Amino acid sequence: MVQNRNKWLFLWVQEMARNKVQFQKGLSEAQFAVLYGTETQCREAVTRWRWPSGFVCPVCGGKQHSVIKTRALYQCTACRRQTSVIAGTIFAATKVALTIWFRAMYHLTQSKGGISSIELGRRLGVTQTTSWKIKHKLMQVMMERDATKRLSGRIEIDDAYLGGERNGGKRGRGSPGKIPFVAAVETTPQGQPVRLKLRRVRGFRRAEIAALATRNFAPASTVVSDGLRCFTGVGSAGCVHQPIITGAGRKAALSPAFKWVNTILGNIKSAITGTYRAVRGKHVPRYLAEFEYRFNRRYDLAVLIPRLGFVAVRTPPMPCRLLKLAENYT
Ligand SMILES: [Zn+2]
Repeated sequence: MVQNRNKWLFLWVQEMARNKVQFQKGLSEAQFAVLYGTETQCREAVTRWRWPSGFVCPVCGGKQHSVIKTRALYQCTACRRQTSVIAGTIFAATKVALTIWFRAMYHLTQSKGGISSIELGRRLGVTQTTSWKIKHKLMQVMMERDATKRLSGRIEIDDAYLGGERNGGKRGRGSPGKIPFVAAVETTPQGQPVRLKLRRVRGFRRAEIAALATRNFAPASTVVSDGLRCFTGVGSAGCVHQPIITGAGRKAALSPAFKWVNTILGNIKSAITGTYRAVRGKHVPRYLAEFEYRFNRRYDLAVLIPRLGFVAVRTPPMPCRLLKLAENYT
């Protein structure tokens, strides 16, 4: 596991060389402890993120309130409704201290290779069941956050699978037991990566790609692919398809047009397979969202916690039952 993580870090640093990510300072554990070390600090942070301009009653919108300190409740003066700061958020009804949630946000946002729920549980000092729930709820936040932002301009697109290698002659497209997903990277006109989307698909069919492009790409974008037939589906979303035929085999090595998609795909696959021994098919969208979220915020490591927290208090509660069922292909 350690070897895989080192390999991931090595790949990442290598590919981002002479890029400002390399010089980016994250949030050190010491800095984190100063900012979010106590339950009071975490509660104050959640309150700030939830009500940036003061308390607002979720029932009547009233602003006048009193605070019941012993139970950490806000009582609306107008309608008398009592609200806890975490009610109606992803932290709702948690039996876990907010300091634990915050440490989970720290590990999830600051470790480039991702972190398994086993490892997270160890670091937080909670059971794996608890760490699994915390992790998946936070990944849900990441997924809902990025679901609505579309890519535009020049987009590189590629097909990929989790659960199998596709080198060794065969591309492996459509092989059984593999979980298909699409990787799309918006780039500058010069080919530098801007933003990433990773989306689980049911298969590489034209209609599936058309639906994906409609949800995720702005019309009139130029979509560069290796010419896999299904990618013509982006035309249905008003995008221009620009196939670059590279032939079968190791296209990564052959075509500079796919440099970034291939690099990113390689990194993601080695990180996921290195960090997680088994990814359940139905949870793949959330795992992909975790990588997408971190990649798209790679220049903002130090502010990832307030940014994630701000969205977390705006993400509705997710009961464990739903968490386990969830299968979201958007
Ligand atoms: Zn009220």
